[in-house]
Amino acid sequence: MNSKNIIDLFFFKEKKDGNPEITTGAIIWGTLLRTFLILVISFFVIKKYYLNDYLILLIFILWFLVGFPAYKAYQNFNKEMEDFSESTLCGSCRYFEKSAQLCKIYDQHPTKDIIPCEGLNWEPKQFDN
Ligand code: SF4
Repeated sequence: MNSKNIIDLFFFKEKKDGNPEITTGAIIWGTLLRTFLILVISFFVIKKYYLNDYLILLIFILWFLVGFPAYKAYQNFNKEMEDFSESTLCGSCRYFEKSAQLCKIYDQHPTKDIIPCEGLNWEPKQFDN
């Protein structure tokens, strides 16, 4: 993993076919990375400036720099997946896993241009009622 990948993860993205994209995995890794960095920096700052009385601020910092951005990234991911589901063949297939943008049969990430089975294994989603 090089520094560009780490910077992408910091912004909740990972490279797919050379382009940074938001994925659930990237959001989780980005959250862990940001949390780790903030805790390490906080540890040294608190120790150096004797800020033990202000530990409660760490909760707000974690929310504004980790929780809220991760939540917004997840909302964007969900919106992209809704658009993807409505505009592609894979999006209407029962073997498509929306949370990971994954074809469960081929274990590949379909895109708007790439349908791993080329439509041969497509089956409609089952609808209740
Ligand atoms: S089986 Fe074919 S249509 Fe269905 S998700 Fe996989 S690649 Fe897409």
